Amino acid sequence: MNCPQCKGYTLEPTEIEPGLVAGSCCKCKGSLLSLMNYRFWVDRYDTVNKPTQELAVAQDNQKALSCPKCSRLMTKFKVGNETPHRIDLCTGCDEAWFDEGEWSLLKQLDLHDKLPKIFTEAWQRNIRVKRQQDFVNQKYQALLGADDFERLATFKKWLDEQPHKEDIKQYLINKQN
Ligand SMILES: [Zn+2]
Ligand SMILES: [Zn+2]
Repeated sequence: MNCPQCKGYTLEPTEIEPGLVAGSCCKCKGSLLSLMNYRFWVDRYDTVNKPTQELAVAQDNQKALSCPKCSRLMTKFKVGNETPHRIDLCTGCDEAWFDEGEWSLLKQLDLHDKLPKIFTEAWQRNIRVKRQQDFVNQKYQALLGADDFERLATFKKWLDEQPHKEDIKQYLINKQN
């Protein structure tokens, strides 16, 4: 199979973790990982050499890649809000492409054992919801200042536990002074 990034380079079987073999490119250092192999590995091994340094500097190709197996376009999936990195997946062949350093990045984020989940709609939706929440929090924190925002957050937490939550909200809206 050819590397989806480098013309004329083939993917060679390489052990990226003890017991986990992927097809790696010697030029761009990317790896194509079969999710079938991955599932087999994660059930039996899941012992990884965790990198200890700062968050890995990983490449992240922005262009659309063609699956080395079936030539169809691969889909990009966000990993999480901690990183802008996206992992390419051929949904037909169940083959995931990691740019150089992206596998290490997953290990550092403790996501290396959650791979198929990342490719689900639920995971992707969660990332969007969390990003939206972070955005709202930042907006109100900037508006109110850290102390008052903290107070508001505490009040919101209390409010969420109240059986008469909706009545309290109505009271706050309607009470004039
Ligand atoms: Zn390559
Ligand atoms: Zn494919």
